[in-house]
Amino acid sequence: MITRRAFSAGTVAAPAVLGLNGRAEAQSSIDIAIIGAGAAGLMAGHRAREKGFKARIFEARSRVGGRIFTDDSLGAGYEAGAFYIHFAERNPWREVAEAQKVPLVDDNTLWGGFNVFREGKPIPPEERSRRRGAFGQLSAAVEQQGGGGDFSFEEAARRLAPDLVEAAQSLTLLSLGEDPDKVSIRDYQQLDSGDDLVVPSGYGHLAERYAQGLDIRLNTPVTAIDARADALRITTAAGDVLARAVIVTVPVGVLQREAIRFAPALPPATLGAINGLGMGALTKVALKFDGNRFGQSPWTQFFDQGGAADKGRPDDLVNFEFWPFDRNIVVAMFGGNYARALAAKGERAAVETILARLAAIIGPDVRKAFGGGRLAGWSADPFAAGSYSIARPGEAAARAALEAPVHGRIYFAGEANAGSASMTAGGASLAGRRAVDEIIRGFAAGGRKGI
Ligand SMILES: Cc1cc2nc3c(=O)[nH]c(=O)nc-3n(C[C@H](O)[C@H](O)[C@H](O)COP(=O)(O)OP(=O)(O)OC[C@H]3O[C@@H](n4cnc5c(N)ncnc54)[C@H](O)[C@@H]3O)c2cc1C
Repeated sequence: MITRRAFSAGTVAAPAVLGLNGRAEAQSSIDIAIIGAGAAGLMAGHRAREKGFKARIFEARSRVGGRIFTDDSLGAGYEAGAFYIHFAERNPWREVAEAQKVPLVDDNTLWGGFNVFREGKPIPPEERSRRRGAFGQLSAAVEQQGGGGDFSFEEAARRLAPDLVEAAQSLTLLSLGEDPDKVSIRDYQQLDSGDDLVVPSGYGHLAERYAQGLDIRLNTPVTAIDARADALRITTAAGDVLARAVIVTVPVGVLQREAIRFAPALPPATLGAINGLGMGALTKVALKFDGNRFGQSPWTQFFDQGGAADKGRPDDLVNFEFWPFDRNIVVAMFGGNYARALAAKGERAAVETILARLAAIIGPDVRKAFGGGRLAGWSADPFAAGSYSIARPGEAAARAALEAPVHGRIYFAGEANAGSASMTAGGASLAGRRAVDEIIRGFAAGGRKGI
């Protein structure tokens, strides 16, 4: 049996915060360095600890949770990132919540009705039923469509029936944050579904509590990983650390921007996998109101199709959800280039634009009752670079390719390479655990020399 003593032998008890500018004055050595304290990093940290290994998590932000974040700054919390515990049957976050005795609610109970608007007006009933029919047809057909190559979601919809392309756009923009021509149909088809649960007290708060007790260095971005010597050298804003293995959980968009330098350079297969993926831009704006509920009950949704009639196929769809958990908040969600442009303009402009869209539907009471807004603009966030990964058309194999370790000791783990659970917090966590288990197997096999 592998013992902690065997693998931590020779580790130096050194101060965690070392010299600046990457010049370590003293060096700290650990078994496993974990880059990022999101779902994958936290789950990996726990797994390593359970197995008796010394792991340390380096997080660029001043908080843990990554893209799981409950924003309470409006006084009433809303989930700026992940909301659902998807496929709860096998999602580790359900177990975490149960262990913490945190109540969970079945998503099926959160229904308040659905209304569709265009240019501020409800769409006519016949258009509404046509639309509903198109969605049903599209979902069923996409599920069934096997073989035939790996083309875009848009192409798949067009092959089924040209009038399904509009439904495809609504579906991918609001579920993946991306236009259907940029999404692989094969990748979409391989995704899991199952029972969804939600965390009324906050998914982000659950993650914060789960992080307690782990060795986490906040405000510590990692800028380089050097694998040229026996020990991996991890360069952080607080100095260098030596590790036997590293798990990189930063989003693929962050990797594409080369925020972390690798020496030697990553092999072509890994680079190809990273570049075969993209980042959607699912974005939220939360609007707070003074208690006026505008006649809407909690969980009612208003889907605003957006776009002037002469603009062609609009991409500025916005879905409003009213009063989640009976809070005086409306959460708007949108994606694609419309979201990227709004996020780039910043919070003030984005909140104003979305408020104006809601006011166009409901009327001037919206502005009278408005009490502040927040933008969760993940595409403009340097530590996220988007909402979650999508596989580009023809690149459905990229996620699996990103599972292969590099130089036997650099592992990538996160929502991007979580197989059929990809894109989700649950999948990211499973990928984090998997990476630790593989590293430990590698240690046991003695594949790499220790530090
Ligand atoms: C709007 C939105 C809605 C979503 N809805 C859901 C949902 O309902 N259900 C669901 O399951 N999933 C949802 N997701 C997706 C889910 O949030 C992610 O799949 C999951 O949280 C990703 O976890 P991760 O650990 O892979 O990455 P992250 O959570 O991004 O963690 C990576 C961490 O690395 C840090 N980092 C980045 N660069 C560096 C660096 N150089 N050095 C050190 N640290 C760095 C980041 O700050 C971050 O904390 C949603 C996401 C968004 C944006």
